[in-house]
Amino acid sequence: MATALIHHPYRPPAGFEAPQPGVFKASTVVFANTAAMRARNWKEKSGYTYGLHGTPTTFTLEARIATLEGGLHTVLVPSGLAAIALTDAALLAAGDEVLIPDNAYGPGKELARNELAAWGITHRFYDPMDANALAAMLTPATKLVWIEAPGSVTMEFPDVANLVRAARASGAVVALDNTWGAGLAFDPFRIEVDANGNALGVDLSAHALTKYPSGGGDVLMGSVTTRDPALHLRLNATHMRMGWGVAANDAEAVLRGLPSMVLRYAAADRAGRALAQWWAQRTEVVQVLHPALPGSPGHANWQRLCTQAAGLFSVVFDARYGVRQVDAFVDALKLFKIGFSWAGPVSLVVPYDLQAMRKQPEWQGTLVRFSLGLEDVDDLIADCAQGLAVMDR
Ligand SMILES: *Cc1c(COP(=O)(O)O)cnc(C)c1O
Repeated sequence: MATALIHHPYRPPAGFEAPQPGVFKASTVVFANTAAMRARNWKEKSGYTYGLHGTPTTFTLEARIATLEGGLHTVLVPSGLAAIALTDAALLAAGDEVLIPDNAYGPGKELARNELAAWGITHRFYDPMDANALAAMLTPATKLVWIEAPGSVTMEFPDVANLVRAARASGAVVALDNTWGAGLAFDPFRIEVDANGNALGVDLSAHALTKYPSGGGDVLMGSVTTRDPALHLRLNATHMRMGWGVAANDAEAVLRGLPSMVLRYAAADRAGRALAQWWAQRTEVVQVLHPALPGSPGHANWQRLCTQAAGLFSVVFDARYGVRQVDAFVDALKLFKIGFSWAGPVSLVVPYDLQAMRKQPEWQGTLVRFSLGLEDVDDLIADCAQGLAVMDR
């Protein structure tokens, strides 16, 4: 019975079609014969070699993410942070330097301060709002320049084209953390297109699929997408040697999220702008940090590059409100749940200490970041209003 249950002769009929692709799960992949095994190619997608190197499920998701980002090749990794780590590990060696925006996603900066430093890779943080300052920091050792648009939490929107041009001059690989834009707000590989159709873009786009592509708040995944086959091969080789594969069920969860992603992004954008505009009228805050709002840092840069924005923004409370009062506001919220990450169905809120995040924060006071879920925005506005009433009591 044991053998019969494993080596069963039944084969389901070929040609099954349904709205969603099937889920193929494999650690190992079996070959038809030794010749097929010996002819295996680990480097491209003409066949299957090992679960870690891809299944129909992960190949399908890779192709769709490449389309989303306007790229040609995608590697999947177990988290957005792993997409940053894969990029760093694949492209940097001892003696190299990586330049990172000083408002970048925090754990990526921690990776530079710890593992990269231990591997003999140096890093410096640059002011993303000053492309000339970036240009002045480049040295022959600079092999990788990260860009994030907008910066995590403080939401300054840089002049992406000028940052790319500055970094390009040194021959460094230009990597974008495209989680916020998600492939919808702007095209990372066509930041600018000249009259002859020549495009200026980044070399690779790292994306936390955890956020909008999944949209469920129930899966962690990341991707690294490029248009350059040689760069893809470097990423793919490191991916295989590090063993950073993804599980089929997780890939399926993202494949389920993708069909509604464009609608969810637009809905979160509408809600985010409505709530941000409401906050802009409130005297409790001194600054609303939302790239689509005039007066937010880098608004003109956002306007030149994008029509859409993620449903994500921050407010800076007036310094007359201490951390304890701002925490009381956050605790009083009922619909907004306290949690990191964003772009799931549930609206989230996190208070941040600006001083601890930036070398020279532009603002004093406590910052609160809001991530819009899919609730009715009028209910979310009412939730913030009642939270402020509790705080002011
Ligand atoms: C969330 C996020 C990441 C990391 O994604 P995880 O999947 O949570 O590891 C990286 N960059 C940015 C900008 C993010 O918002």
